[in-house]
Amino acid sequence: MNLDRVATLVGELDEFPDSRAEIIFDLSAELAREGRTTEALQWLGRLAEGGGVDGALARVEMAAVHYQSGRVAEAETELARVVATPLADPSPYASAAEMLAGLGDDRAAVRWFTMAAVRFTADQIDAASGEDGWASWAFSVLWQRREARERLGLRPDDWDAGLVPPPALRSDRLLSLDDVASMRVPDGARVMFWTLSEFATAQRDLSGMIDQSVSFETYRDELEDQLRTLAARGTKVTLVPARAAEMRDYADRAGGSVTDEAIRRAYLDDVAQRTGTVAWPPGRNTPCWCGSGVKYKRCCRTRGR
Ligand SMILES: [Zn+2]
Repeated sequence: MNLDRVATLVGELDEFPDSRAEIIFDLSAELAREGRTTEALQWLGRLAEGGGVDGALARVEMAAVHYQSGRVAEAETELARVVATPLADPSPYASAAEMLAGLGDDRAAVRWFTMAAVRFTADQIDAASGEDGWASWAFSVLWQRREARERLGLRPDDWDAGLVPPPALRSDRLLSLDDVASMRVPDGARVMFWTLSEFATAQRDLSGMIDQSVSFETYRDELEDQLRTLAARGTKVTLVPARAAEMRDYADRAGGSVTDEAIRRAYLDDVAQRTGTVAWPPGRNTPCWCGSGVKYKRCCRTRGR
């Protein structure tokens, strides 16, 4: 399966030259996952030589691969190269900061979050402040910076103080996709979703649940759009991953149908209690909510309209 995925991605490089950088990031992530770090570094190295934002992001990924392999000096060399060629775009700096925070190096993470923060425009900083700021990209960077600074015991600075924490999670109300589409939204919403692996099963086995003509790609892109619309209206969203066979069993036991709103609501409550929910939006570097196995920043985050 993974070998197929590597081959598919290599094929896509010729087929979609405009998406070369995105594909190389996916390809190198896949290779690194399989332990083929030398090949991953070769692909990223080619991208890095091209410079620009993609080149800098490639160096950050190379640093991540080196850190994961215990090669600290090599990792630090790649990060030093990013610093040596300043760019106006915050992305590479934010990406490095998230990686370093993930590694537990808060001191370095704060340095990199700050390098990202100074690159946001005044409009982006404005968008991050206030009650609805939490849904913005700049907020996610500034908030992570604030958390890392708190862990280091630093006093809040102006950026820290300007952030309004995300609304407390309110999960007593469950939304169907129809609710979401019609915008009858409370402050907090649970939204049911099917991952890639469950979508086809649900479409095949759960009569009336998913239109037969809808592809997973369409479903996923539309859901991402709906979630962004909800977030833009200040609604905190959590996703509840549904499983087709489990949902049908649940409906059978309850003596109802999977399309019955009350059954669906009760089933999602059950899932949320047993297996928890998925936060949305995910961090840029965490695996995408859709179940693709690809980082969110290179999956649905780039796909929505
Ligand atoms: Zn995705």
